[in-house]
Amino acid sequence: MSDTINAIVAENIGGKTKGALKQLKVGDLPDHDVLVEVAYSTLNYKDGLAVSGKGKIARKLPMVCGIDLAGTVIESRSRDWQPGDRVVVNGWGLSETEWGGFAQKQRVKPEWLIRLPDAFSLDQAMAIGTAGYTAMLAVLALEHMGVVPGTKEILVTGAAGGVGSVAVAVLSGLGHQVVAATGRPDTHGFLSGLGAGGFIDRATLLEKGAPLQSERWAGAVDSVGGITLANVIAQTVSNGAVAACGLAGGMGLPGSVFPFILRGVSLLGINSVYEPRAKRELAWARLATDLPKEKLAAITAGIEPMSKLPELAEQIVAGQIRGRVVIDVNK
Ligand code: NDP
Repeated sequence: MSDTINAIVAENIGGKTKGALKQLKVGDLPDHDVLVEVAYSTLNYKDGLAVSGKGKIARKLPMVCGIDLAGTVIESRSRDWQPGDRVVVNGWGLSETEWGGFAQKQRVKPEWLIRLPDAFSLDQAMAIGTAGYTAMLAVLALEHMGVVPGTKEILVTGAAGGVGSVAVAVLSGLGHQVVAATGRPDTHGFLSGLGAGGFIDRATLLEKGAPLQSERWAGAVDSVGGITLANVIAQTVSNGAVAACGLAGGMGLPGSVFPFILRGVSLLGINSVYEPRAKRELAWARLATDLPKEKLAAITAGIEPMSKLPELAEQIVAGQIRGRVVIDVNK
């Protein structure tokens, strides 16, 4: 087994923290119980912030970036995992407090691992990644609140991004009428192919609106935040629900309590990072049944070499990535 591995490592250089391709020794990895030979990772918005240095993600340095990994167990001190097991890790502080998936090998805690459903190959698992698993958590949260396919529409914001595109595909497959909010008209064909039945220009959600607006959405999956989220909540029907996943458009929530107290709208927070294993297994099992393979293929923007991550990181933070990019850590 080669002792040297390639990794994207965030370090502070000249007062700025950025990720760059480095070589590490296997002996440098944390002393966790399971050694995984990583096949693929992926590019999430948070990875873009970490590698480009545009957001403070790492809480200690040096930090191996990458919040996701998919690979095969090669050594284990845990009875739960054996060499040869195909596994996925999403979140658990990877790239923040724990070394992450942009590495050819990584040592992880047994309790972080999920057995990859047979339905998926390792690269398909990372085409889903945290973004897709988060989209499924949002769908589960909406279902829990009784948002089922019906006569009213569901809105997905940031629709052409990672969370958004998987949400569109899953919700439309479940029979919802999905409206996609996007700032990129050139993605309408892509989003129609995933099942979006209508579109709104994201600019219409970026202007501050009235505290209560016409009731349109039975539910929504929002990865944008800010004024967009406030408007979505104000446009949600009585007893509808909005799953808030992200902050691609801002971290504020400049709205009013009226939708909550006058319409009974529910705001559902989604935090994929520290979900318990049972919830993760449910989300992955539902992805296996509810995300059609041809749609996953359409969402996959490509498989890129790890060496290209610094460039890709800038692109995702600038909102230029459509769907999901898989990272081949061995290239
Ligand atoms: P992407 O960059 O792939 O998608 C984000 C999308 O948001 C873009 O494609 C764009 O969609 C839209 N967008 C970007 N900038 C703006 C803006 N200024 N105003 C309005 N819309 C904008 O990122 P991901 O899908 O990977 O992540 C989306 C968000 O969800 C991020 O904030 C991320 O941190 C968060 N997230 C949270 C998780 C959790 O556990 N809560 C887990 C995973 C992600 P379009 O081009 O269609 O307009």
